[in-house]
Amino acid sequence: MIKERIDFLKEALNKYSYNYYVLDNPLISDFEYDNLYKELEALEQNNPEYISPDSPTQRVGGISSSFEEHKHKYRLYSLDNTYNAEELRKWYERVQKECTGKVELVCELKIDGLAIALTYKNGYFETGVTRGDGITGENITQNLKTVKAVPLKLFEDADIEVRGEIYMPKSSFEKLNEENIENGEKVFANPRNAAAGSLRQIDSSITAKRDLSMFTYTAIIERAGEKPQTHWDSIQYIKKLGFKTNPHIRLVDDIEGAIQFCKDWETKRFDLDYATDGVVIKVNRLDYQNELGFTSRAPKWATAFKFPPEEISTELKDIELGVGKTGAVTPVAVLEPVNLAGSTVSRASLHNFDEIKRLDVRIGDRVLIKKAAEIIPKVIKVIDSEQHYSLPEYTPPCECPICHSALTTREGEVNLYCSNEQCPSILKAKLEYWVSKEAMDMDFIGPSVIEQLFNLGLVKNPLDFYKLSPEDFLKLDLVKEKSANNMYTSIQESKHKPVSRFITALSIRHVGKETAELLVNELSSLDEIKNASVETLANIEGIGEKIAQSIYYYFHNEENLKMLEGFASIGFNFENNIQNKTTELAGKTFVLTGTLTSMTRDEAGEKIKQKGGKTSSSVSKNTSFVIAGANPGSKLDKAEKLGVIILNEEEFLNMLGEN
Ligand code: NAD
Repeated sequence: MIKERIDFLKEALNKYSYNYYVLDNPLISDFEYDNLYKELEALEQNNPEYISPDSPTQRVGGISSSFEEHKHKYRLYSLDNTYNAEELRKWYERVQKECTGKVELVCELKIDGLAIALTYKNGYFETGVTRGDGITGENITQNLKTVKAVPLKLFEDADIEVRGEIYMPKSSFEKLNEENIENGEKVFANPRNAAAGSLRQIDSSITAKRDLSMFTYTAIIERAGEKPQTHWDSIQYIKKLGFKTNPHIRLVDDIEGAIQFCKDWETKRFDLDYATDGVVIKVNRLDYQNELGFTSRAPKWATAFKFPPEEISTELKDIELGVGKTGAVTPVAVLEPVNLAGSTVSRASLHNFDEIKRLDVRIGDRVLIKKAAEIIPKVIKVIDSEQHYSLPEYTPPCECPICHSALTTREGEVNLYCSNEQCPSILKAKLEYWVSKEAMDMDFIGPSVIEQLFNLGLVKNPLDFYKLSPEDFLKLDLVKEKSANNMYTSIQESKHKPVSRFITALSIRHVGKETAELLVNELSSLDEIKNASVETLANIEGIGEKIAQSIYYYFHNEENLKMLEGFASIGFNFENNIQNKTTELAGKTFVLTGTLTSMTRDEAGEKIKQKGGKTSSSVSKNTSFVIAGANPGSKLDKAEKLGVIILNEEEFLNMLGEN
């Protein structure tokens, strides 16, 4: 029984490793792989007679065969890993027992890329080799020479071997996949596979075209000007030699400091443009590292804390169709519920029908889903299985799933659209958007209230909201006087929102919050926007011909104009809103990070714009101020590095004249 389970796990893990390391095409998530691996490890520990040399626990990584093999001078180990803090504490206890004094630790981000070893002789780059199985790797020197972060000559004459991680920035990975989709080429499951695939190109001119970089995190010094005594100092030294090292590194007194670092980066990592799957914690003193040594596959002086998984596999039970405010029909994956990043996921995005075709998703498949930060989970690939081929291929619909009108396509777009502008689903989606945070921000009205108001025939378009009395809300399920009043008040208050929100809320095609703000900034009244020609609109920076035409079309449609008159007649005052704008902050760009106590970040952004300033989502040397609330993200680190002025909430309120 135990032997059979061990054999099964060995075979499965070897298959997964082959697909992961050799084909750069993982079949399951890392989390699932790690769980199976830990099960095998525990079974082997209790039944050592069943350990065989082909067990994945007996080796490190994997190798592919397209390049010349190269035996490493110094073995490259793997890392033990854990997903929980308690195990980190146990690891630290073991470490402390073997060392005589205080054990300081260095925390580094675990870059999710491809491990390589670079050797330098007399300061010149000699060979670059993949980790492979830790003993032998592939010689990819030519390809590594195309990576700009790999120095060809060091700033000092030294004989040294460094290890680092080659990675592809997330933004470049997305771009590469988009291009590959267009050209009908292989689409990579994640940035790590894209980096590995790019590095193992036989033709190094292809590697040169890919945006690859490297963070260096270990040095074995044979001959050099300095002989660091700690890991921290060796990182400072290799930086001095010309290697790129990761800036997010922290020296801590003990394991509690390291656990805090892991907590800090659990969410901050989403702000980075490269993938990290955890934190590597290393004993700082090199003499302690030597004392601790290695197990058969990993150092005892280091361990990895892995972040909660972002990916997991599950069964696709159905594909449901929804119709949004633009009329686009969107397929949604209905999943066997699974726990992912702390929440139960039962639905995921499938984007559009082209994506279903590209992934060849079929109902009944096992699929890999991914969730990053607050983004809705999405299906990223189908797990290859025999069963997949016995399932019927998915056929896109030819009529609207809600009103059964014909579906149409639009030039240059992949979506299918419902052709009926009065489709109940489109009307309801527009109403939902009207009340949303981005638009009129009506706290007390959500989708279920809208559904009921719509079904009772009380609200068909946004103007109808303003004709409701508090009593109307009492007709809805479970609504009592207090919440009826709250709903009524939030509708009335929305009349005084800035005009840019009003324009956003109209659901004009291609016009979101940003474009609405551009319009309001450039044209002095709603009337002027209404009467502007396509040419005037297209001349506004940030608004192209397509958007201009859509705005023009909206404001030349009789129904829409009638609705706008309706809004004016019930007390919406568009002109004042615009004229209230001042220019005190003109020419200044602000970046907001962390939580403010007196307002939301959106409200702060509006106040800045009201005074003529601009907001941006990322910090650069052009940023004038970074406003830092509580628990700021990595934007604060970047601001400090670039020397951008940082204001706390109080200073910001003073600047606004509100304190
Ligand atoms: P690992 O990736 O868990 O950890 C070791 C590696 O971390 C090192 O070799 C190095 O490349 C890297 N690393 C990144 N930043 C580092 C830093 N600052 N300091 C030191 N090292 C750093 O171990 P592994 O042996 O490379 O791979 C095993 C892991 O790969 C598994 O735990 C699993 O998550 C994944 N895997 C997944 C599949 C799959 O099918 N999904 C299959 C095989 C392996």
